[in-house]
Amino acid sequence: MKLNNKIAVISGAGGVLCSSFAKCLASEGAVVILLDINKDSAEAVANEIIKDGGKAKAYGCSVLDKSSLEAVHAEILRDFGKCDILINGAGGNSPRATLNKEYYEEGDEVANDIKTFFNLDKDDFTFVFDLNLMGTLLTSQVFSPDMLNRDGVIINVSSMNAFRPLTKIPAYSAAKGAVSNFTEWLAVYFAKAGIRVNAIAPGFFVTKQNESLLFKDGVPTARTEKILRATPMGRFGKPEELLGTLLWLVDNNASGFVTGIVVPVDGGFSAYSGV
Ligand code: NAD
Repeated sequence: MKLNNKIAVISGAGGVLCSSFAKCLASEGAVVILLDINKDSAEAVANEIIKDGGKAKAYGCSVLDKSSLEAVHAEILRDFGKCDILINGAGGNSPRATLNKEYYEEGDEVANDIKTFFNLDKDDFTFVFDLNLMGTLLTSQVFSPDMLNRDGVIINVSSMNAFRPLTKIPAYSAAKGAVSNFTEWLAVYFAKAGIRVNAIAPGFFVTKQNESLLFKDGVPTARTEKILRATPMGRFGKPEELLGTLLWLVDNNASGFVTGIVVPVDGGFSAYSGV
């Protein structure tokens, strides 16, 4: 039980990847605080953890609303104490900010029956950009004071998009590029203040936020075939395959001199040139 009584705050904890992070940290003895805009999904995960003998509590809040984060932070301080580990997992893409085509075709600049680069709505772009970057920034602003000079750990969740953007999703690509860059920035900022900041960049995992791009009526889309061709291991990742990296990065003995890195866990996607 390496994390005995450490307090781990996880945003997006009702989702597929972060619920697996939450269960993993709880099984190592951490008190897991699950934040999600969908309180019911976070509560369901907290209940599972408690049923298995772990310590957990769910709170409903949006990572885009600083005052709701501050209110939840005050409750957590009162109920449990200071945060030791923060995982900024809330994020994802949205169909609203997803284009229909990979490449420009003649006439796209005047088309209005499909989503193109030209008619991509600023609010839709901003929604995805903010969810990933501002959600990470605001949550870090609220919880990092707890961790100052206490061997704190912040883990952000980046993506393959941060290394090279994927077609059709310019907002998500820009956002995760910014999350990786912010991870490095914050790592330097806190380097002398006892907080390590790193990111995990998952390859492709089937979850709620990307399901509609990957499957249509349960059948893999052309994009799924492309992704699997571009992943040398030839398959999607399983959430539990992120846990070794997570446990390494939260462990101040195992990764005590590691800060400011973005670790790909991707079946070889980021190493493959396509040939
Ligand atoms: P998911 O949709 O299963 O989980 C995302 C969770 O975030 C949901 O429970 C959702 O309710 C919550 N959320 C959304 N908006 C929120 C807000 N404003 N405030 C608080 N919570 C909010 O998706 P996932 O794939 O498990 O996503 C986890 C993280 O992993 C995301 O940052 C995502 O971008 C990243 N990621 C996923 C993949 C993948 O292949 N699935 C790859 C790379 C990175």
